[in-house]
Amino acid sequence: MNTIKNIVVAGGTHGNELTGIKIYQKWAKNFSAYQEKCPSAKLELVHTNIEASTVCRRYVDRDLNRSFANRLLALKNPTAYEIRRAQELNLRFGPKGENTKTDLIIDVHNTTANMGVCLILSTRDPFTMRASAELVYEFPNAFIYYQPEERGESPYFGTIAKADICLEVGPQPHGTLDAKLFFETEQVVTRYLELAEEWNRGTLQQKPKKKVDVYTQFKDIDYPRDAFGEITAMVHPNLREADYQEVKPGDPIFMTFDGKDVLYDGEFPVHPIFIDESAYYEKKLAMSLTTKTTEEW
Ligand SMILES: [Zn+2]
Repeated sequence: MNTIKNIVVAGGTHGNELTGIKIYQKWAKNFSAYQEKCPSAKLELVHTNIEASTVCRRYVDRDLNRSFANRLLALKNPTAYEIRRAQELNLRFGPKGENTKTDLIIDVHNTTANMGVCLILSTRDPFTMRASAELVYEFPNAFIYYQPEERGESPYFGTIAKADICLEVGPQPHGTLDAKLFFETEQVVTRYLELAEEWNRGTLQQKPKKKVDVYTQFKDIDYPRDAFGEITAMVHPNLREADYQEVKPGDPIFMTFDGKDVLYDGEFPVHPIFIDESAYYEKKLAMSLTTKTTEEW
């Protein structure tokens, strides 16, 4: 991205993830103070899943953050609230694709997993990479997760912009707030705005690149299940709150209800994240396995 002309900061894409909703409400009351962080771009705030937030649930009819694939955005007269909302958001901030009005979306989420402030990048966009590298040095609790996405098919809200950062902040039970995580998240979002301003002035590009640990999506794994689809094991006690830590082939990853270890049978070490995220039981996802590399960003 050469110049960042439009930035959207979003909260409440999942209606029970309160950090982003509270940032939205706080910032909306004092908008000019945040717009001033990046005067060279137009800032917009959005509360994405309003209906789900009023009942403090992740979603009403279906997951809004799984509703932005081109196929769903093109549906005629959808009945599900979240597909209608995705189409409205796409009209306002998209349309998804090369002609989108929005250069950058920062979408604020929470997770029950112990992921700190996870900066999720879906493209190798030069600004989001450069800015995120600065932020992992400024915030010891920040980590970079690279989850490459084919943008047209990707279901995530951020993919209607040219580039996006999805923040996943935790551990925080859904429907609750954690003051320390709130302020940390708010500072990270504010820094992205300030760094966008530096980018537009050309100064961020002149700073030396930094070595960063990058956790790259490898594969999602489910809990062990029986023939009826019931889970037969839990996340292993060794992995509780152990996001980003290395798991080697042969290490225990689950424990059955009889107390037996289930071992990781992969061929190389991985670094699981989103471990035991409560919203992912329905998605049959126990954790996302990543590989860790060191790169200059
Ligand atoms: Zn979320």
